[in-house]
Amino acid sequence: MNSIPHERDKAPDFSNFPTSKKRAFAQSMDERDPLKHFREGFFIPSKKSLTSSSFQSSDSLRETESGVYLCGNQIGLQPRQAPRLIEHHLRTWQAQGMYGLTKKISDSPLPTWGEMDQVAARLMSPIVGANPYEVSVMGGLTANLHILMASFYRPIGERTKVLLERDAFSSDYYAVQSQIQWHGLQMDNMVLIDPIPGDNLALSTAKILAVIDDHASTAALIILSGVQYLTGQVLDIEQITSHAHSRGIMIGWDLAHAVGNIELNLHDWRVDFAVWCNYKYMNAGPGAIGSIFVHETHGQVDQTKGMEGYRPRLAGWWGNDSSSRFAMRNTFAPGTGAAGYQLSNASVLDTVALIASLEVFNQTNMVAIRKKSVLLTAYLEFLLGTIDPLPFRIITSSNATERGCQLTLRFDDQNVLSRVMMRLTEKGYVVAQKQQMMRAAPVPLYNTFTEVWDFVDQLRRVLPSCMVGV
Ligand SMILES: *Cc1c(COP(=O)(O)O)cnc(C)c1O
Repeated sequence: MNSIPHERDKAPDFSNFPTSKKRAFAQSMDERDPLKHFREGFFIPSKKSLTSSSFQSSDSLRETESGVYLCGNQIGLQPRQAPRLIEHHLRTWQAQGMYGLTKKISDSPLPTWGEMDQVAARLMSPIVGANPYEVSVMGGLTANLHILMASFYRPIGERTKVLLERDAFSSDYYAVQSQIQWHGLQMDNMVLIDPIPGDNLALSTAKILAVIDDHASTAALIILSGVQYLTGQVLDIEQITSHAHSRGIMIGWDLAHAVGNIELNLHDWRVDFAVWCNYKYMNAGPGAIGSIFVHETHGQVDQTKGMEGYRPRLAGWWGNDSSSRFAMRNTFAPGTGAAGYQLSNASVLDTVALIASLEVFNQTNMVAIRKKSVLLTAYLEFLLGTIDPLPFRIITSSNATERGCQLTLRFDDQNVLSRVMMRLTEKGYVVAQKQQMMRAAPVPLYNTFTEVWDFVDQLRRVLPSCMVGV
């Protein structure tokens, strides 16, 4: 095998390439990368700015060496066009006041404020494999989970339980717990799905299906994550969703770590609903406005039937059909699709930041992004495996179809990891630590094979001094 590997969703075996351990190999992968120009669409923090706490040094960041940022799974980097689009929005606000709601400004690339959320939803829909009307841009992830659980978690008779994974993100756990409590039900209505015993924290599809079967007559709802935030594991959304439906149970997916990371086909997979935030792989900035997906089967509205004509939900004026929203009538007439689940008018400032990123995604597509991602993460995995001795184990699956871009490294000794983190941070290498776990996420839109190489090289260099005394 001499050519550069390219299989989609199939991680190549880099050890078959005689030069793959060399930096020049990484550089040649970058040269052939069809997505390489996207990196220029982002502000890449310099080593100097990452290791400084004032703007002074970061102002000159352009001349200085780039940091190695493998943390897009926590906070994605800023798209270069975000400040420009935000500036356009601020100028519209300055010059037009409330007219900005409906007046299209000819020399601004932005839609009116009134249309902004729909434009963002339209740009978002191909990224998650949805029809435009199945997506809404609104609120925050946890708030949206509550809003959708209000509609989809309706404990009736025997069916009162919510199933979720044991190591769910704390916020999801609290949301489910408090919903059960709010319905006046006991906590034994919360059914936790355990990972496979051991340190890998891997969930087995067979086990998930079996737990669903065990609770087939008593479960009201299942909440799972598409990509597990700790381990980076990808769950089989299609199979699990279909199995839940075969048992008459609805299922909602938390896609915080899945959106912009893996290919999703939410419509075809018949996912009931999904929620996600947009500040991780979606690069819309810290605390950015979130998004929801509601399958078209749950978004239908028959205006002739009044309150019987749509799925019950918590309502707000922005969920009213946009054509009659400003009529302010006392009868709620929800818009069709996910838009009918909106409550408040969406923060325009926030939505503009999201659009800045969505436009980047829409210059390519998730198939191309994922194709690079599979290679990039496999390359990281391969290089990590060449470290000797290895003070960690990669707990993320080695099977590309079972992971996104993130690898989770479980260190034998948490103190070693803490020292490693300190040394990497000092040098402008950014990864995340949680207890004994390091999470490294090379993001295909802006990370390079050379950065992956440099990261592993740096790790290899700092390890011996961090392992002293172990
Ligand atoms: C990031 C993340 C959240 C964060 O919730 P917010 O409401 O956006 O603060 C929740 N759940 C999961 C699984 C996450 O990865």
